[in-house]
Amino acid sequence: MAPGGINGTALTDFADLGERLLGEVITPSDGAGYDEARGIFNAMIDRRPAAIARCRTGEDVARAIRFAREHDLPIAVRGGGHSVAGMSVVDDGLVIDLRGMNAVTVAPAARTARVGGGAIMSELDRATEPHGLATTGGRVSTTGVGGFVLGGGAGWLDRAFGLACDNLLSVDLVTAQGEQLHIDEEAHPDLFWALHGGGGNFGVATAFTLRLHPLTTMTAMLLLWRPEAGPTVVRAYRDFLESAPDRLGGGLLYFTGPPEEFVPDHMVGALVCAVLITYIGHEEQARDLAAPLLHLGHGAEMITELPYADLQCMLDDPPGYRNYWSAEYLDSFPDQAVDRFCRRAPDMIVPSPSQHVLFPQGGAVAEGPADFPLPWRTSPWIVHPFGLWDDPADDARARQWAHDTRADVRPWSHGAVYLNFIGGEGRDRVVAGFGAENYRRLAAVKARYDPDNVFRLNHNIEPRPPGL
Ligand SMILES: Cc1cc2nc3c(=O)[nH]c(=O)nc-3n(C[C@H](O)[C@H](O)[C@H](O)COP(=O)(O)OP(=O)(O)OC[C@H]3O[C@@H](n4cnc5c(N)ncnc54)[C@H](O)[C@@H]3O)c2cc1C
Repeated sequence: MAPGGINGTALTDFADLGERLLGEVITPSDGAGYDEARGIFNAMIDRRPAAIARCRTGEDVARAIRFAREHDLPIAVRGGGHSVAGMSVVDDGLVIDLRGMNAVTVAPAARTARVGGGAIMSELDRATEPHGLATTGGRVSTTGVGGFVLGGGAGWLDRAFGLACDNLLSVDLVTAQGEQLHIDEEAHPDLFWALHGGGGNFGVATAFTLRLHPLTTMTAMLLLWRPEAGPTVVRAYRDFLESAPDRLGGGLLYFTGPPEEFVPDHMVGALVCAVLITYIGHEEQARDLAAPLLHLGHGAEMITELPYADLQCMLDDPPGYRNYWSAEYLDSFPDQAVDRFCRRAPDMIVPSPSQHVLFPQGGAVAEGPADFPLPWRTSPWIVHPFGLWDDPADDARARQWAHDTRADVRPWSHGAVYLNFIGGEGRDRVVAGFGAENYRRLAAVKARYDPDNVFRLNHNIEPRPPGL
């Protein structure tokens, strides 16, 4: 930071803010602690905030927001740090870091959990599991509950329990004015609606109440084939999903064969085509259901009953990689689309933690509340190129693969897209994420609660959108 500070904000001002918080304020003068605090999941993002306010309470958050506004500093809100575009860290601004607000309290009789605004998925899952309860979470354990739920929230359990936001019962929110609101269906219904998909546009969520569902037995089945079998496997998987029960989730992915005991040497480090079945129920039932896939001559398998919280860590992607992902939501997935999807898989960087993914929707996702601003929920298939690599020399290649994958399947596109699955792809894609009519309604809520667009580091909803 320049000796004179940022926008006239001196180090002493940040020190004063720190004195007034229960948490702490970190600045570049904190050396390694600062570098650790500004790092996020996507290693391509290297931003240097003026300060990071590690908040502990709603009052801390309110003070940090007021401070940033008084000093004209842009605000980034950080939960799990998984935003691919790095929206949770900002150059020369103030990061409101919620990681210290990660308490999870379960009310087993009511089947609800109160979750701190900075908790990550594993903290939620580990707290609910002893009660035989769970709710839809992300597909890895390190994603922040905050960004995930506010954007919609899709995961292994969504076909059975709906999207994460379908299970969102209330939110404690600090507004752009530093006001602390409790929001539910009755209190501030306009905001309640907007927080079901509208992301971090409306304030900083310091706590969520989520509905839980009974969940004791879970089976995971991972089947691997050589990539040449892809077109047959993908067709079979698509047809199998048509009549699969809602308790069955998962996805199909091409990825680099992992060095696990169940994987034969020739598949380790090579491109493989895999089906992951996640099933709420016993292994025997899962095997019966998956018979059409089990007869396709796979080259490796891992089939086991396991706690849901363990399933959540099974595909945990390592931090420290460069990231680029995108998505296309499809109305249909005919053979021609299957072939294009399969043909593009070898363009992915291998070996790497990248995944060339096909996710099913349907079930409780499609049947969930139609009113929420999530027009993509009715799309049956998602093509999701998910790139992670480590050599900057591969940046252009990784991006190209994601763009080509999308372009290949665009003829079958639904048009709408889940914004948590993409980075900064421009305003049209943001509008497509909500649908034009929902965008207008969201903009009206934004104008009421954040007219100055204080919370703009997100898939931004403009308070006064031109031309809409
Ligand atoms: C490895 C990996 C796997 C993923 N898997 C899935 C998946 O299976 N399903 C899925 O739906 N998504 C998935 N995602 C995407 C994920 O949902 C989004 O990236 C989401 O924004 C992450 O939230 P976060 O809190 O970790 O992110 P952050 O980067 O901390 O925050 C992103 C944005 O969310 C907002 N935000 C976060 N917390 C709050 C809060 N408490 N109050 C207000 N605003 C807040 C802010 O606008 C912030 O800019 C995955 C991402 C990664 C990296």
